[in-house]
Amino acid sequence: MLYSQLFSRTSKDIPSDETSKNAQLLIRAGYIHKEMAGVYSFLPLGYKVLQNIIHIIREEMDKIGGNEMLMSSLQDPSIWKKSNRWTDNKDVDAWFTTKLKNDTELGLGFTHEEDITNIASKFVKSYKNLPLLAYQFQNKFRNETRAKSGIMRTREFIMKDLYSFARDEEEHEILYNRVADAYKIIFKRLGIGDKTYKTFASGGVFSKYSHEYQTLCEAGEDEIYVCDRLGMAINKEVYNDEVLADLGVGKDELRVAPASEVGNIFSLGTRFSSALDLKYKNEKGEEKEVVMGSYGIGPARVMGIIAELISDDRGLIWPTEIAPYALYLVSLHKEKGDEVYNYSEEIYNVLRGSGVDVMWDDRESAAGEKLADADLIGIPVRVLVSTKTIEQGGVEIKERVASQTEIVTKEQFLKSWTEACN
Ligand code: ATP
Ligand code: MG
Repeated sequence: MLYSQLFSRTSKDIPSDETSKNAQLLIRAGYIHKEMAGVYSFLPLGYKVLQNIIHIIREEMDKIGGNEMLMSSLQDPSIWKKSNRWTDNKDVDAWFTTKLKNDTELGLGFTHEEDITNIASKFVKSYKNLPLLAYQFQNKFRNETRAKSGIMRTREFIMKDLYSFARDEEEHEILYNRVADAYKIIFKRLGIGDKTYKTFASGGVFSKYSHEYQTLCEAGEDEIYVCDRLGMAINKEVYNDEVLADLGVGKDELRVAPASEVGNIFSLGTRFSSALDLKYKNEKGEEKEVVMGSYGIGPARVMGIIAELISDDRGLIWPTEIAPYALYLVSLHKEKGDEVYNYSEEIYNVLRGSGVDVMWDDRESAAGEKLADADLIGIPVRVLVSTKTIEQGGVEIKERVASQTEIVTKEQFLKSWTEACN
């Protein structure tokens, strides 16, 4: 990608009502655009990061046998009335609704338990059809009261929602734990594994506890009690003597910290299968209700948390696996066609030819501006070409997190990057 052809630019202007650090940084660096409070568009750089996060989640969901699909955002009230959530949630919860021209009401999806259960009931007939895992990445709409955390809490956001279908509680447990294991891998790959805790939260009707995945973060809206000995945490809302006894932890071994929920996993029992008639016939020909679970992750919230946690006063610092580009090439040329430009162009072409994901700042801007932008945009490795580096025999390499630089020959540099990609 050539910077001169990039749709967005870095900027010093931040909307005056934007108080969150993640949105301020991402807007300045040209990753997102604020449409209105709690609503953001993802610009090419931001969309690449979001896609990289989604890619990691998708790979791990596929590994455990998830079927990816896409359900509609517009939701039919008749399905939601069966589980009583249309009436129970509509007025009290964050549900957006709209109307057809003939005045029929519709919902804008804020979650999809009812829809997926209804769809599954068309296909699940026998014990031979189970167990099943189905998931999607889909835009959810929620009329959040508070939307002051940038992309960590928005009124329209992509969620990965997975739903599990099991023959009985025992099989459900197996699926639940399989998803929990996958979540651990996902948050590690996303670069926040060391700060993310499986957290006990209240479970609802069908299980005593659910599990949230909470990432320690000053900007988080939750508070959790972390137990370092067991490497887990308890949500402040469920923190009481009974929970401590259940988990075998003492008050004195817990520390309280602000955190943000990046994901959660929930046992649903037969709440939805019973309401929406999702049954199967077991080996004896008896009808049984399917036991379900639901499992969310918010990719944009993860992105916001990473911007909050892994950044410095100069800008963003992306973990390699989710960075929009692997390499940021800065050429301090005076004009197109001069020695520095041509030297950089050759490097750019070789890298691109070998499949290296490289962004070249090919603008004729001042050196200071280019270097500041490189730091702000936060691609993990910067390679610099100037008359000085050419005299010294090559290019200057600097990792975004490091302060020292290193001169290497052009050949050495190209060899290491093109080999890494082959
Ligand atoms: P919270 O308590 O933060 O409101 P939630 O319990 O409502 O979250 P779920 O309904 O379980 O969240 O959604 C699954 C995941 O979607 C959450 O773990 C979070 O990562 C993400 N998420 C939820 N609400 C939002 C939002 N308004 N903006 C961005 N991501 C969100
Ligand atoms: Mg919520």
